[in-house]
Amino acid sequence: MEGALTARDRVGIQDFVLLDAFTSESAFLDNLRKRFNENLIYTYIGTLLVSVNPYKELNIYTKKQMDIYMGVNFFELPPHLVCVISDNGYRIQKMRHQRKYVNNHFILISGESGAGKTEASKKILQFYAVSCPKTKLLDTVRDRLLLSNPVLEAFGNAKTLKNDNSSRFGKYMDIQFDHQGEAVGGHILSYLLEKSRVVHQNHGERNFHIFYQLMEGAEDEMLRWLGLVRDCQKYSYLVQFDHFVCYVSVLFWWPAGVTVSFSPAYHLAVMQHLFGIIASVLHLGNMQFQTDYRGYATLNSNTELHWLSKLLGVPMQVLREGMTHRKIEARAEEVLSPFTVDHAVYARNALAKAIYGRTFTWLVNKINESLANKDSTRKTVIGLLDIYGFEVFNINSFEQFCINYCNEKLQQLFIQLTLKSEQEEYDMEGIEWEPVPFFNNKIICDLVEEKHHGIISVLDEECLRPGEASDLTFLTKLEEKMGSHPHFVTHKLADQKTRKTLQRGDFRLLHYAGEVTYCVVGFLDKNNDLLYRNIKDVSFSQVTSSQQAHNPTQFKSSLMGLTEILTSKEPWYVRCLKPNDAKQPGRFDDVLVRHQVKYLGLMEHLRVRRAGFAYRRRYEVFLQRYKALCPDTWPHWRGDPAEGVQMLVTHLGYRPDEYKMGRTKIFIRHPRTLFATEDAFETC
Ligand code: ADP
Ligand code: MG
Repeated sequence: MEGALTARDRVGIQDFVLLDAFTSESAFLDNLRKRFNENLIYTYIGTLLVSVNPYKELNIYTKKQMDIYMGVNFFELPPHLVCVISDNGYRIQKMRHQRKYVNNHFILISGESGAGKTEASKKILQFYAVSCPKTKLLDTVRDRLLLSNPVLEAFGNAKTLKNDNSSRFGKYMDIQFDHQGEAVGGHILSYLLEKSRVVHQNHGERNFHIFYQLMEGAEDEMLRWLGLVRDCQKYSYLVQFDHFVCYVSVLFWWPAGVTVSFSPAYHLAVMQHLFGIIASVLHLGNMQFQTDYRGYATLNSNTELHWLSKLLGVPMQVLREGMTHRKIEARAEEVLSPFTVDHAVYARNALAKAIYGRTFTWLVNKINESLANKDSTRKTVIGLLDIYGFEVFNINSFEQFCINYCNEKLQQLFIQLTLKSEQEEYDMEGIEWEPVPFFNNKIICDLVEEKHHGIISVLDEECLRPGEASDLTFLTKLEEKMGSHPHFVTHKLADQKTRKTLQRGDFRLLHYAGEVTYCVVGFLDKNNDLLYRNIKDVSFSQVTSSQQAHNPTQFKSSLMGLTEILTSKEPWYVRCLKPNDAKQPGRFDDVLVRHQVKYLGLMEHLRVRRAGFAYRRRYEVFLQRYKALCPDTWPHWRGDPAEGVQMLVTHLGYRPDEYKMGRTKIFIRHPRTLFATEDAFETC
């Protein structure tokens, strides 16, 4: 018995649901730290997998390792990322053998930047690729799925202080399998690309990878054609370049993966067009303005204009007018109103962001075309969502508001799905439901998204009053509408003590994971994603105008869409944690991890999980493991498994209130009971 306890003491417990002091954050942290120190980076909370970034290569993703996990009940082996998929992979195998469809699944990966989300999703994809049956086809959807990753990363990832390869967009990917378990189609949805990075990067950070890949990887002739020189210091959108080693350039092979079904000539045309647009963003960044004698903006030089005109196919005169004037409609007449230099710079940056954003959307659409499955027969779908966790900075803006709202929605989905599936399981097993209290965050989702009353509605209303409305009138309206809401506070509404912690332009939301204070500056602009109209007119009929979700209204509806997609599937969750800010192996920073445990809502997850019985197991499995503990069931029990289990637990002295017998499973309320049994088993 002692021996068993020592082992558990050393490596911790592999499922938090079984942690005795489950409400204590410290106990939670102790368990994580113990496991991390033993290189055990994965721990369950029921069917949720907590992962701590090891910042070093662990020898646990080999084919051999994966094979061990394939086709086994995942509870019998130590927690592993593969379990998330092997459970699914297992289903796929089953599907292959039995030639029938299995339930749709989705895997939701979240965590803060640098915590390991993208690595996890890549490993999952690779695992699917390995576990899919080999076909003779050279070009399969599976290959294209794998190829699409570096392409998206080139355009959507950048070096930040937190992560050298940080994804600056949220991604949802669907993979469709046919009845033989072969990947036959896929679809990608992208969320909230951080377009502001195109025109501005914080110190020590970089622009999106593709710019540097183009500068380093393009042939001289191509650069000449684009009007570029091979020197990042020459481009104001790239000057922060700090000679960070470029990721392997995907320039020359990637579009093959994307446009593989097209002719080589078309392929070349697409590439040229794409690089033309990327180059035009750089030219835009170098456009300088000066004040003329009337106090209005004029262009310093025609050089950039010339290249823009060539690369975008827009006449120079139209561009010049667009860059320095605003078109106003007055009594069915169009009037040109000149910009000041500040306005012109603002409009220039807005245009650069819009071009980049649309190019990204276009690219995602192209990838989707190449992954589309033309056959409409029934498929099994597995979804993969890689999205930021809660973000809390010293100053939080519109972007954090969107991201945190997204996480609030996903938590709501988790609650609904978990409670629903728990309820269904209890109903199916004929067991009474006696819930433990937890916080349901629906009230916060409503606060943000309710029609006419929610924060997003108020924001949209204000955006419809150009000229009159401002960020501050938006805040005042919020105060009027939300006034007494228990999860909403502003400087004006706060009590004296809280007031000291708020600025006048702030509002604070009490999210399920904790408080976040948002500064309203820029909310209206960013919601509008303001683009002066005449610039919109001249830009890019070639680039598709289909929208990427970038403001909360669109974001809200695309989230609703996503929620709908996800509700129809069985969930698996991966929560990634970052052990330290130095990107170093072997360092576990308690304060940092505690913060993430809080903002990922892990304690709340645990509470929802423990709302009923901590542990449940099919009678056969339970009996198989513990039959040696009772003379009546050892070595073989030939009768009804439920009766055998009853015999076993009576012999072990389980109290009647400690367990319930369902139709096919035994339910154990408290981990203590199970541990006693497990200890007895280890020592017998
Ligand atoms: P996120 O997508 O959450 O921002 P990434 O997945 O890009 O973070 O991970 C950041 C870095 O951490 C990776 O580039 C890699 O060096 C390291 N890393 C993440 N997960 C693992 C892992 N499972 N094993 C080893 N290193 C990892
Ligand atoms: Mg990422």
